[in-house]
Amino acid sequence: MESRQFRVHLHISSPGKTFMSTAASPTYPALLSVVQYPHPVLRKHADEVTVFDDALRDFCERMFLCMEQAKGIGLAAPQVAVSKRIFITDHARREEGQSDRRVWINPRIVNAEGTSAYEEGCLSFPGMYARVERCDRFTIIYHDVYGAENRLSLDVGAGDFLGVVVQHELDHLDGKVFVDHLTDAQLTLIRKRLREMEKDYKKATGKPGAILRR
Ligand SMILES: [Zn+2]
Repeated sequence: MESRQFRVHLHISSPGKTFMSTAASPTYPALLSVVQYPHPVLRKHADEVTVFDDALRDFCERMFLCMEQAKGIGLAAPQVAVSKRIFITDHARREEGQSDRRVWINPRIVNAEGTSAYEEGCLSFPGMYARVERCDRFTIIYHDVYGAENRLSLDVGAGDFLGVVVQHELDHLDGKVFVDHLTDAQLTLIRKRLREMEKDYKKATGKPGAILRR
């Protein structure tokens, strides 16, 4: 996910940049790069993580490099073409030298209440921002990189912006993207850019990809 505070840095300036692994793994690719709309992996329901090994931890570490290079505040595994229920966040103000790196594995939300709307962007939809309605208060249950279960209660209305980020990223694990939440009027504003991305994808791959059917 991208937020307005990082907006000046929104472009993924070197889309060919990848992050190499030293650990060979059949589950996680050696090279990671952010995929963009309409790549079909963004529409897949991601699989649960059942093995908490060094390859998983190495993958998460490389996801942070990928996200930091792209100036993101959240990144889900499907966005680097790995259909696993993993996402990472770091919503602290990096320009002020702060960091709050977190890994969320097999996450689920319980006891959701209320709604809040915030402006969101997404590394897989560069340059597009829109206000999206999310739950206001909830508890998220997730595993860490060693398989231990954690739970955290978040209250967006009380200032937990992390609550917006995790809802955005959790959507990616279910094959949903933030533009799915937009009204027709909001969609009209970004339709031209979506069409351009669809054209670029078809040109590069010869396939239409998973295009938005609205
Ligand atoms: Zn996203």
